[in-house]
Parts: sequence; C-alpha cells; structure tokens
Amino acid sequence: MVWGMTEKDKRTILVSGGAGYIGSNCVKELLSRGYEIIILDNLVYGHRELVDEVLKVKLIVGELQDRALLDSVFANHSIAAVIHFAAYAYVGESVSDPAKYYRNNVLGTLTLLEAMLAANVNKIVFSSTCATYGIPENIPITEEEKQNPINPYGRSKLMVENILQDFDVAYQLKSVIFRYFNAAGADPDGQLGEDHNPETHLIPLVLDAALGRRDSISIYGADYPTADGTCIRDYIHVSDLADAHVLGLEYLLNGGNSNIFNLGNGNGYSVLEVIETARAVTAKAIKSRVCQRRAGDPPSLVGSSAKARKVLNWQPRYYDLRTIIEHAWVWHQHRHGNFR
Ligand code: UDP
Repeated sequence: MVWGMTEKDKRTILVSGGAGYIGSNCVKELLSRGYEIIILDNLVYGHRELVDEVLKVKLIVGELQDRALLDSVFANHSIAAVIHFAAYAYVGESVSDPAKYYRNNVLGTLTLLEAMLAANVNKIVFSSTCATYGIPENIPITEEEKQNPINPYGRSKLMVENILQDFDVAYQLKSVIFRYFNAAGADPDGQLGEDHNPETHLIPLVLDAALGRRDSISIYGADYPTADGTCIRDYIHVSDLADAHVLGLEYLLNGGNSNIFNLGNGNGYSVLEVIETARAVTAKAIKSRVCQRRAGDPPSLVGSSAKARKVLNWQPRYYDLRTIIEHAWVWHQHRHGNFR
C-alpha cells in the first residue's frame, strides 16, 4: 500500500480549524463515519469547549505557520489526509488588515502544504469561498465563472487555490477545493452551531434580535436590483457542508484527481425573506431597519452545485430556509438563551 500505512491508519484525518463553526460540524460527521480525528486550531476564533465537551478528540493548539509543530504532528501520527478549514474570514477586517489575512490564510497554508509534502501526505480538502468569484456575471454561478475577488479575504483564498493547482502539477498533491456559499444553520442535534465574536452574519444576528440580545436587525440596503430590493444569498446548511467534506475526502482517498466544487443549495433568499422566516420560526416580532449598503456586497450570489451532486453524489438534505433557521434557532437559544 502506498505510504506504508495500515487500513486503520488510512483513516486518521488532520482537521485544521476543527474548533470552528464548519470544521466542528465536519468533525462530528467524520467521527460518525468511523474516522480518527486530530484537530489543529489556534483557538483565536475556535471554541475549545466544543472540542472537549462535544467532539472529544485530540486538540493541538497552535499556528499553521509553526513548521516545527506541523512536522511533529505528522511525525507522531499517520495522517491519511488533511481537511483544511483554518482561516480568518472577516471580509471587512481583511480590507483594514490585509497582512493578517495573507499571513494566516496564504503563508499558513503554504507552511501546511510544505509540511504535508515533507511527510508524504498528499491529499487535502480545502475550504474556499464564493468570494473568489467577486461580482459574478452569471447566476447561478458555476465553477467555470471567472474568479475576480473584490477583497483581500477572497484574494487570499484564490491564491491558495492557485498554489494547490501548481502543487498538483509539480508535486502530485491532490486537492478537493470547495467554494462555499453562505454556511448557515446548526447541527440538527443542537450541539454545534455558529458563534462568532464579533458576529457579522445575517442569521445569527437576526436570532440575536429575536432573543433580545440586540434591539433590531439592520438591513444593509433595500435598493438593490432584486425583487424586494435586498441582497440575495444562497444559504447552505452546515450539516450538508459537512457531508460534502466527507464525500470529498473519500473521493481523494479512493484515488480521485484534484477537483473543484461549489457548495450551495441553489436557492437564493433575500435578506427580507430571511428576517420574515426567522419571525415565523421564533414567533418573535424582530425589529428591522433599512440602513446603507455594506461596502463590497454583490446584489445576488447563488451557486450551482450540480457538479458536486454529479461527481460526489452529494445530496443536500436541509435545503429549505425554514429548516436551516429552525436548527440555528435551537442552537442559538441553547448557546445564548441565558442572556436575559
Ligand atoms: N446583512 C444585513 N444585515 C446584517 C448582516 C448581513 O442586511 O446585519 C446582509 C448582507 O448585506 C448580505 C447578507 O445579509 O447581503 C448575508 O450577509 P452575511 O454577512 O451573513 O454573509 P456574506 O454574504 O457577506 O458572506
């Protein structure tokens, strides 16, 4: 067998960023399918208690740029593949502090890839983003759409995509690149969900308003060229994202070539539709007010995930907005319900 591994070793996966929102949900899914997991996370935005209390797997706290640490992780464990979530992901902060983004997201990933190559680990699943498309010309967006990111966050992810393609040609490093649309919802058991600090995402902010943790929700622009004037996004349930990562991993473990997939649900919902649905789910009034547009928001981002469905046989289960918000609401109350 290649790399001299046993069957069991083949199933040990290093998950960077596994203490974060999408990463923790993915680890839960991997555990349910019998994989051994090691999480590497710097805990800047990740949550130790999710790892210790819910996932109960080995957590290594450290930086991706720490090559000596990475070398020791690969030396001490037979890692079959890496799933790489760890990244900073605040668009606004990436504009005000691009160095932080290029250092962590690009340099950190480069260090990880070099450590993988040195340890003969040649499979990686990478979290990219629809932000690499910038303002798309075609909706729904396919993987063929021109990539023209409009902020340093999106550029940092596109740079890594390019590095991965070059590393395949030069070093036969096989990658699955997932371009996520708007990750949303929570695990249906209510154990793992979205908890960013600061929070900037629409659904958790709307649910904060429902819980009384904030007075109202700001609608960033109601004069967009959309049916109700507010921005349209493609909200994809985090458990469906997790499922796709397992399929992407298994595609690579089964010898698949490097590939790129959008992960969205194909349905666009406007900001107003999200707020209305949250009102219905929570049975709370949820005050809203229209504010100025937020810089850098494209009017509409809706992805086609036909390729992931076809090649990976990915079948999203929780594609309707109401279910996504119901799951998020259960988690949100569990996490923040004692606030009052
Ligand atoms: N949005 C909003 N009010 C908020 C937060 C977000 O109107 O307080 C809008 C935002 O302009 C975008 C959509 O909600 O059109 C989703 O934003 P989010 O930050 O959740 O994700 P993004 O699409 O930026 O990745």
